[in-house]
Amino acid sequence: MSIEPKAITPWIDSHCHFDFQQFDHDREQHWQFLTRMGCVGLVIPGVTANTWSTLIGGCSNKPWAYALGLHPYFIDQHEADDLLRLSIACETHHPIAIGEFGLDFVLPEETFTRQIELCQQQFQLAKTLELPVILHVRKAYDEIAAMVRRIGFKQGGIIHAFSGSLQQGEALIKLGFKLGIGGAISHGRALKLRKTVANLPLDALVLETDSPDMKPAFLAGQRNSPVSLLLLSQMVASLKDCHGDKVILASNHNLYAVMPRLKAII
Ligand SMILES: [Zn+2]
Repeated sequence: MSIEPKAITPWIDSHCHFDFQQFDHDREQHWQFLTRMGCVGLVIPGVTANTWSTLIGGCSNKPWAYALGLHPYFIDQHEADDLLRLSIACETHHPIAIGEFGLDFVLPEETFTRQIELCQQQFQLAKTLELPVILHVRKAYDEIAAMVRRIGFKQGGIIHAFSGSLQQGEALIKLGFKLGIGGAISHGRALKLRKTVANLPLDALVLETDSPDMKPAFLAGQRNSPVSLLLLSQMVASLKDCHGDKVILASNHNLYAVMPRLKAII
């Protein structure tokens, strides 16, 4: 029996934090490995104002696209003038999207008011700049959909690490969003999410790893990296009863559709 070498379908990780310190010691070497595994690009969202410049610098001369935003997880670190800094940074550095930002209602309730304010302001900025958004949403899918409608935000974007219901997913798709699917589907307890993904249309999904965060079940103690996307694509394929390559091609296509500036980079 001979084993024919198979061409790898080029893939893009639609959401990873390749700028985080977990990659500091081997970033270049690991990127070389990723390209050998078929990776042709990364989308790296910004999370705090203090880390944007390192992120922007790190993406130069690489097919890595950055977004800029103020993540709710770091709500205590965001300062009063960070929104102004964000609007200046966007005018100067042309990110592909505003993000990641959003609403995280798993965090303590005393942060909710500030989270909502910061989330609305970033939507307004994205609306003014006509940019899509990359959203972090936990236990707040209905609130995000309501905010999008209230603001009249029409640029769409990605709901990263989607874990809502089928109904919530469909409502967000109607509002112009793609749903980011990643490591959460690999966990044994995620029966409901796997069923939801199986029922969502392939043209609404984008693959992501959120690496080094959101470690998939198959990694045990290892560092999560964009290469996890290959196994995740096969998991989505088995849920949708199709080939992994079809999922990767759909994900790439959907990502370009919702992030028009990506074409200039990847
Ligand atoms: Zn993220």
